[in-house]
Amino acid sequence: MVCVHCRSDTQVINSRLQKKANQVWRRRKCGTCGAIFSSREVAQYELVWLVRSNKALQPFNRDKLLLSIYASCQHRPSALSDASALTETVINKLLFNATAGVLEAPAIAQTVQVALNRFDKAASVHYQAFHRK
Ligand SMILES: [Zn+2]
Repeated sequence: MVCVHCRSDTQVINSRLQKKANQVWRRRKCGTCGAIFSSREVAQYELVWLVRSNKALQPFNRDKLLLSIYASCQHRPSALSDASALTETVINKLLFNATAGVLEAPAIAQTVQVALNRFDKAASVHYQAFHRK
């Protein structure tokens, strides 16, 4: 990865596996300007997961998940960061639900429902109203 300031080569000076989030965090240092920044390695779930909804399969879409959660968090002053964190939580749970790379749409909705219920009852009620079968 190149430096975010001067685009020179960087070196990894620290690295940590974040097991719960299934990510690798790396601290990088630029060999030219000395800038230090972090990077994250995350699986491209969009390319490996399919979602089954009414028998049709479509690629998993993180943005779609984020927007559906965000829609239910809009009453919160920190709606965007809350929705973003909740999306990560849901994806981490979905890791255990994917069978041969296929997720059932109702299982995703159920996972979101559980996460929202623990986080914000109003958001949970809103989500349920929009995603009830
Ligand atoms: Zn640099």
